[in-house]
Amino acid sequence: MEVNLLDTQIEYLKGVGTKKAEVLRKELGIIKYEDLLYYFPYRYVDKSHFTSISEILSEDVFLQIKGVITNIELVGVGNKTRLVVGFSDNTSTTELIFFKGIKWIKDSLIVGKEYVIFGKPTLFKNSYNFPHPDIEPLDKFIQNQQKQLEKYSPLYNTSEKMKNSFLNSKAISNLVRTLLYQVKDYIPETLPQYIIDRFNLISHREAIINIHFPSSLENLRKAKIRLKFEELFYMQLEHQLLKTFRTERSKGFIFSHIGEMFNTFYNNNLHFQLTNAQKRVVKEIRNDMRTSHQMNRLLQGDVGSGKTLVGLLSMLIAIDNGFQAAMMAPTEILAQQHFSSIKQHLGNMPIEIALLTGATKQKQRKEILPKLIDGTIKIIIGTHSLIEDNVEFHNLGLCVIDEQHRFGVEQRAKMWNKNKIPPHILVMTATPIPRTLAMSVYGDLDCSVIDELPPGRKTIKTSHYFDDSRFALFDFIKKQIKKGRQVYIVYPLIKESEKTDLKDLMDGYESIVRDFPIGEYQISIVHGKMKAEDKEYEMRRFKEGITNIMVSTTVIEVGVDVPNASVMIIENAERFGLSQLHQLRGRVGRGAEQSYCILMTSYRLSKEAKVRIETMCRTNDGFQIAEADLRLRGPGEISGTKQSGLLELKLADIVKDRPILEETRLLAIDIAKTDPSLQSKENTILKQYLKKYKPQTDFSKIS
Ligand code: ADP
Ligand code: MG
Repeated sequence: MEVNLLDTQIEYLKGVGTKKAEVLRKELGIIKYEDLLYYFPYRYVDKSHFTSISEILSEDVFLQIKGVITNIELVGVGNKTRLVVGFSDNTSTTELIFFKGIKWIKDSLIVGKEYVIFGKPTLFKNSYNFPHPDIEPLDKFIQNQQKQLEKYSPLYNTSEKMKNSFLNSKAISNLVRTLLYQVKDYIPETLPQYIIDRFNLISHREAIINIHFPSSLENLRKAKIRLKFEELFYMQLEHQLLKTFRTERSKGFIFSHIGEMFNTFYNNNLHFQLTNAQKRVVKEIRNDMRTSHQMNRLLQGDVGSGKTLVGLLSMLIAIDNGFQAAMMAPTEILAQQHFSSIKQHLGNMPIEIALLTGATKQKQRKEILPKLIDGTIKIIIGTHSLIEDNVEFHNLGLCVIDEQHRFGVEQRAKMWNKNKIPPHILVMTATPIPRTLAMSVYGDLDCSVIDELPPGRKTIKTSHYFDDSRFALFDFIKKQIKKGRQVYIVYPLIKESEKTDLKDLMDGYESIVRDFPIGEYQISIVHGKMKAEDKEYEMRRFKEGITNIMVSTTVIEVGVDVPNASVMIIENAERFGLSQLHQLRGRVGRGAEQSYCILMTSYRLSKEAKVRIETMCRTNDGFQIAEADLRLRGPGEISGTKQSGLLELKLADIVKDRPILEETRLLAIDIAKTDPSLQSKENTILKQYLKKYKPQTDFSKIS
């Protein structure tokens, strides 16, 4: 067998050894030569540029300074001892502070000698100092530069533990340099020549060398393009090949006809017209389920656009074809609500339906489970209790998953395994996913979009109030209540500071009670620290219109449907993210009345908070909001992709690198179509590297 140099264990690299190898493995997952080669710098410093001490302006940037050591002093006692080194250039003076390795550093530095330091300044008592900078005698610095011909030096992320083991950024760059010297002739090409030629890319080898030690800014740019290209390309190729596989080869249940249940429901039970968007989407789903391949469809639609109804219609098709259907929701409250609204929709139709959640009593469970196995229960609604192993089906034909981003990838995958042939899967998400993200993360899913709200809905009017205009606001609320409307008042709840958040909520509640005296007004309060049954009780009172105001934390965010509620007041709105604000706003505007969303903030707003508030006031369109959110926060934060580990890109940024994303997507589609098994000679290299680039997650099972 051919031995690959890049597979050598990292401990054998000169300068590493067992101890450092262990740290590299633990902290960065670097095990082999190759892993280090692919540990890319996050920034570069122009070695020819020096900052003067008098020019230091902020704490955020790394600086390179040339100067002289003026004095060296040990300060403090015991484990508080630190080494303070005076450092000056001809503009000003600063201090270099060392807490560790003091003795060694002290002995190696010479007062009066010229040095080059590199580090990040810290502001302390009105002046800047440098904790643990890299420091090198000027003569050695110049020598090194001439020897290495490196104009730009790379900066690598390192952890505290690594620094303690003398693996700072500089040490890493030295290791990479040693490594490159050794392996540079053994770095293989990862793309076929025809792709390199067509897209005018540099070679993989050149790209790797230049990403670590760029010989010019232009070469760095080319290196980045080349590496982003392959990163995005292999991701999309994976998706597209899977999609081809799924549509052409994998088996799915065939729902050949529409029958009695669907028709009865459609003709007798549905009291309104479907919107055109709903009709179109039902058709898309119907077409999927009619073919012999498994449906794997993402249904996007803004809050209130009527997704649940589409889910129900799809379930009826499953039942008409002799199958069972399941609907899975992320929370107890939401499952409960789906259950009662679907039951209500079905009226007296002869369809057995059940609810299974964590709160379901043992006795009821014992009744439900056998009925799922023998097929008596046709529709089961629940939380992730549904995916537990002891929940078995007679023949699950369709699984509708609501609010997809709250489920982990693995949980969803479990639903696939409930039958030998996986059920059709319809994922409904109320957080619209921007096209760019949908394309890259859910590349192998088919997408349907409900881009139209049911008729008669008035746009929610959103406005921004500062805290001190609260009294005008209370006046407005009273008028709304007089008209018979109900009001939500929501407080943020962010885990780490739960206690103070709860206090905010309680203080708020008290001041509301003062202005809305009991007797005249009825007020509900709901928060996460309450017992489930108390919560339920309060929610029900609000739903039934017994209480006028619901004061709560974000527990009401997901899916709660009270059409008569027309005012949503969000306290400390600056603390919420955009998609969360939009979700909250979606709780109103569900009835025929004009609805309002009021964002309360203090006067102190960060730049980003201002953009969020401004965006909310400007638009009701979930897609625009999602795009803005993506721009503000970056893709990792959206729709829980970070937690799910779906989008671990090293270099590429799906927003900024959209042109490359689109280019590579088209290329991948083309290859998946013309050579789906990668049989052709020129594509063998793709087959080989696809495995390597394969993401951690099994994309065939993301629904
Ligand atoms: P989503 O799940 O997309 O947030 P829902 O399915 O909960 O939306 O629908 C919101 C409300 O609109 C529900 O009360 C539902 O009965 C109603 N609805 C759904 N489709 C229509 C329609 N075509 N016309 C009128 N009302 C509708
Ligand atoms: Mg919903």
